[in-house]
Amino acid sequence: MRKYLHINLRDRSVKTDELHGEDIIRVGRHFIAKTLLKSGAATVDPLSPENPLIFSAGPFAGTNFSNANRISVGCKSPLTGGIKEANSGGTFGFALGQIETAGLTLYGASSEWVVIRITKEGAISFDGAEAYLGKGNNDAAALLFENYGKKISFALCGPVGEYLGLVSGIAFADTDGRPSRLSARGGVGAVMGSKKVKAIVADVHKMPTFHDRKKLMGAVREYGARLAKEPAIDSFKRVGTAAMGDFTNRIGGLPVRNFSAGRLVEASQGPLKLGGDYIRELNMSRGGQTAHACMPGCLIECSNVYVDAKGQELVSPLEYETLGLMGSNCGLDDPDDVARLNGVANDLGVDTIEVGATLGVLMEAGQGAFGDLGFMMQAMEDMRCGNERGRLLAQGTARVGAHYKVARVPVIKGQGISAYDPRVVEVTGISMMLTAQGADHTAGNVPALNCKGKSTEELVAVSLEAQIVTAAADSLGLCIFGRSVTNVSAELVVTALNDAHGTSLDTSFIQTLGLEALRMEWEFNKAAGLTEDDDELPAFFYTEALAPSGKTARHHSAQVNRRLRELLA
Ligand code: SF4
Repeated sequence: MRKYLHINLRDRSVKTDELHGEDIIRVGRHFIAKTLLKSGAATVDPLSPENPLIFSAGPFAGTNFSNANRISVGCKSPLTGGIKEANSGGTFGFALGQIETAGLTLYGASSEWVVIRITKEGAISFDGAEAYLGKGNNDAAALLFENYGKKISFALCGPVGEYLGLVSGIAFADTDGRPSRLSARGGVGAVMGSKKVKAIVADVHKMPTFHDRKKLMGAVREYGARLAKEPAIDSFKRVGTAAMGDFTNRIGGLPVRNFSAGRLVEASQGPLKLGGDYIRELNMSRGGQTAHACMPGCLIECSNVYVDAKGQELVSPLEYETLGLMGSNCGLDDPDDVARLNGVANDLGVDTIEVGATLGVLMEAGQGAFGDLGFMMQAMEDMRCGNERGRLLAQGTARVGAHYKVARVPVIKGQGISAYDPRVVEVTGISMMLTAQGADHTAGNVPALNCKGKSTEELVAVSLEAQIVTAAADSLGLCIFGRSVTNVSAELVVTALNDAHGTSLDTSFIQTLGLEALRMEWEFNKAAGLTEDDDELPAFFYTEALAPSGKTARHHSAQVNRRLRELLA
């Protein structure tokens, strides 16, 4: 059994449901889509009290099942106007699992800023949040630990979320207590801010009960053993996600200076300093850490702790998407610079993809020069203090582009495009077009497929397959970086689910779960008023040849959607 908490912020009442069997399993992205669709949230103002904010933990939450403790956050996105599920690592999903709680929904809005406290005994209180307001996330997190003890985890709305900045995410504590793991995308932090909930604090307690714990633990060991044998996992552990930078730079799909080039460094010019190999060597030589787990039990350990020349921590983690969007996309080439900016972004609790895309557009508008670190730092500090310019920048790429009348604005459905230029990384580009989530690469990332000679129809089929397995992972609390094992271990995963919760699912369940989630998300977006036209890439991707490949985008929304409908029929 797991509890599910319905928290009404208007009168501070709490209704608790008891969940059993499949209701504990169909969670995360699937549960969010189902709940939001049913509640009619598609037509509400996303920053009004009528937009529910959902936190949903996976069926294995609270255990040491590797990469199975993600937390999904869902609501109608104030950035895209469509559905949003933004999931994160860290310890909050683990903590909810440990107090036998599958998740919670926040309804309405509080009249005063509050910290919601959930204890291991099941008590729920609403504490004053005055002391935390306006603080950076690092100071706010330190105060939460001081006030509630070390055996907690939390979800935290940062200072930009407080004033409803659409670049704001929700921060969660990592395994060392840093508030550095974010449900970053889509403006979920602004929705938390609109409810005046500064933080949710949950106790870390003990392994929750399961139908057959012994068998489940056997599956945990077997999944771990399969990870250990997998070369892709070894690369994550040694180099982290930054390895992707070496690859996209090589194939010419890295965002450079507001997506105006696809390669930052030629092979003859030496190593890409924003790439995984260079960063690993530099960081190790300085005494930094690779193979860091953001969630308890994760054996993939793709995270890192990046330090400066004196061995002082600059940020944890330093990841590919940030290196791409806040780095090469803004004309930077030094990982120390990106790490410093990343540290500030984490303290503000903002999405580094959206902020990097926004700053690139700002530079394109002539407001600052590409590569000007001081300009970028000042923009971040404007966001921190919430002055007029800061509040404008905090509205994200599309709105800043419209404000400065910039022609080249890299967004889909109002959300900044991730670090995969869709002219070159074509399947990921199609996934970013088709997903209801906005330009989100994680929805169906297939960066390494050679697309040469392949038709739009063929590539849409590849994208859909990736989108289904990703949606399933996101609906089970699984980190997608384990996909090389998860995707070929349906029997193991489904048996583990049955052992955990006494169900009788068969292996087709995974595919069904993912496809159902996608169908509901598309239905939500349709009800919210989004159309196929919103899936089209910005015009410049079709008209500007990207150096050095010379490629232009060749997939249009109408054709992509026609093929999708055929595949779904
Ligand atoms: S693979 Fe990386 S991001 Fe995923 S849970 Fe593990 S450490 Fe976190």
